[in-house]
Amino acid sequence: MLLYDTLRQTPVAMEPIDGFVRMYVCGVTPYDTTHMGHARTYVVYDTIRRYLEWQGLPVLYVQNVTDIDDDILRKSAQLGLTWDELGRQETERFLRDMDALNVRMPNHYVKATDAIAKIIEVNSGLIERGVAYENQGNVYFNVHADPNFGSLAHSDYASMLAIANERGNFPDDPHKRDPLDFVLWQATKPGEPWWDSPWGRGRPGWHIECTAMVLEYLGPQINIHGGGSDLQFPHHACELAQAENFTGQSPHVAAWSHIGMVYYEGEKMSKSLGNLVLASKTLQHYSADAIRLGLLKYYYRDQFEYSDDDVAWGERTVERFKQAVNSGVAGGALHAEELRNEAIAALDADFQTPACLQALITLAEASINGEIDDAELAATTLRELGTVLGLRSELW
Ligand SMILES: [Zn+2]
Repeated sequence: MLLYDTLRQTPVAMEPIDGFVRMYVCGVTPYDTTHMGHARTYVVYDTIRRYLEWQGLPVLYVQNVTDIDDDILRKSAQLGLTWDELGRQETERFLRDMDALNVRMPNHYVKATDAIAKIIEVNSGLIERGVAYENQGNVYFNVHADPNFGSLAHSDYASMLAIANERGNFPDDPHKRDPLDFVLWQATKPGEPWWDSPWGRGRPGWHIECTAMVLEYLGPQINIHGGGSDLQFPHHACELAQAENFTGQSPHVAAWSHIGMVYYEGEKMSKSLGNLVLASKTLQHYSADAIRLGLLKYYYRDQFEYSDDDVAWGERTVERFKQAVNSGVAGGALHAEELRNEAIAALDADFQTPACLQALITLAEASINGEIDDAELAATTLRELGTVLGLRSELW
């Protein structure tokens, strides 16, 4: 299977490293419920995992939970909950939504607060290697110490700084040497939770959390590091810099992989704008199979405007698949094997789910209408690839 690498801007082959295709996907910050943007990201990687496994490649899949950060502290204070209570509740809610969407659990699902020891180890290593510095209990990555910093952004310093500032950077932090330097550890403020460290009491920065978990559970070199396209910069660019400077090994990741944003009412679906379609709400009206197909209808790197029409289309499509499996008849000249190969080839070529679904729909319709040469192969294919797409085709 080939998957697009945002760094080299070309599709790359997924070759197992020490027996596994190693995949890390940035997880949620548990302070609000699962919207369709989240659902899309985790459905896509769940499906990529299922496809690789179906091809006989074992996958080792790790995902984090950012259970401590500014948003959690702000929201828990608003709600009158402790930060860890809010995190626990919202993580449970997220996992229920994932389960309802037939998204399987990663092999390791790790909270940031359970990775503090590794975070401290990596931060200490970065200071020793001269690419990070401490200032009054805070630790920062020095972006000028790494000539490759920001390679994943494919843009210049001024544009990077502008994007970073939109996405949570504090350019005026007086403890930093450069406005683009990013935080690896921050000193505790009154009333905040803290952990002991060589730099005093504090809590980890966001980017270092993922790097620590990748290194702890997957190793210095992995196949896929995924997330929404809004993570490409600064989050993933910072992760790349941290990991490669700490391990001295490159490339850290074969495919930096990014999922297009989901739009709603003309804007990116986001907690801050409040234009959310929640997975749990949609599940009250449509099946998980329908939602998965509605999301997989679009090529994963493209953005799209969410509409219930896509999910309704998913529902009708699943019904046709079922009908073809249960009452398809042979009798025509269309080759089931060719359509099966087409569907598989589409997934091999950078996970082109729209082309895959198109081949499966042609197969199902031909089988229902008695225009296929082998109705049994059509049924097997729809069931098998249905399972790969995460449909509950075992129930058909
Ligand atoms: Zn991450």
